Amino acid sequence: MKTLQDLVRPNIWSLKPYSSARDEYKGFDAKVFLDANESPYHEPYNRYPDPLQAQVKQLLAPIKGVSEECIFLGNGSDEAIDLVFRIFCEPGVDNVVSIAPTYGMYEVCADVNNVAYRSVPLSVDEAGNFRFKADDLLAAVDGHTKAVFLCSPNNPTGECLERGELMKVLERFDGIVVVDEAYADFMEEESFLCMLSDYPKLIVLQTFSKAWACAGIRLGMAFASPEVIAIYNKVKYPYNVNVLTQRQALEVLADYSKITEWVALLKAERERLAVALEKYPDTEHVFPTDANFVLVRVKDAQALYDYLLTQGIIIRNRHRVQLCANCLRITVGTPEENDALLEAMYRFL
Ligand code: PMP
Repeated sequence: MKTLQDLVRPNIWSLKPYSSARDEYKGFDAKVFLDANESPYHEPYNRYPDPLQAQVKQLLAPIKGVSEECIFLGNGSDEAIDLVFRIFCEPGVDNVVSIAPTYGMYEVCADVNNVAYRSVPLSVDEAGNFRFKADDLLAAVDGHTKAVFLCSPNNPTGECLERGELMKVLERFDGIVVVDEAYADFMEEESFLCMLSDYPKLIVLQTFSKAWACAGIRLGMAFASPEVIAIYNKVKYPYNVNVLTQRQALEVLADYSKITEWVALLKAERERLAVALEKYPDTEHVFPTDANFVLVRVKDAQALYDYLLTQGIIIRNRHRVQLCANCLRITVGTPEENDALLEAMYRFL
């Protein structure tokens, strides 16, 4: 069994992190701040933010049922994804393995970091739905595979990966397993957060960008063992989450009753949209979904996509994505937005 030190790049393991002014004065009730070359004017924007976002983590930890030292907050979960490469993957030597189709940033981050990206196609069952097989993924792993990325619910397919298959990967792969749960609030299944204490090499990603309705503030979360989070904190930019974002996050976390309401509404609309898409004459397949979007295969995705654009309606054309020929990914909107989409789709016929 590999230790964490076996997996982390040697330069990162021995890295002496930058110590910011705000890291150093901890524990005192300071009134006069002359340590960080800030301006004394224009409160609160003149001050650097808390580098470790203690207040946000204090509110977030009980909501997620994890301790504060198991949380990393970043500039979107994209930052947490990129850090996996920078922490664990030696450029030109190591590789990561993921599924196809899936969220495109894993491959982009691999390319940016000059790390080989191996993608294993999902299977397609008799009903035409995607299936994840752990054995297929594990067959692509070798001694230089530092991490696997598994998005569940998966983007763009929509469904959760089979839990039993994910567990097989956790049991058998001797490296970092990243489970990206950006859409977790829309699924019925239990989050993999409950596995953190049993699997020290598991990283669970979530985000404020989807159900939490805060894509604009750029706040992503990584949950992992305190040892992994300590390495994240060493490598990240010192003040990676700005003052405005931390303030807005505190506000949302203090009262998230609205979010719960919105999620319930979106789940109901998702079912209505899926049923309507099933009935649409040009539909060939509506894929099951546990997220806030529906993947649908139609007769001619490009033509429908182009027409909707002319009607001022933007969806995501996934036609050129592996295994997604003629597929469109449609985000669930308000009832009015979904009606506008369906009306435009019928005008297209
Ligand atoms: N993971 C998945 C699966 C996503 O679909 C997205 C965004 N589309 C992200 C991560 C990135 O989210 P964030 O806004 O937190 O960077």
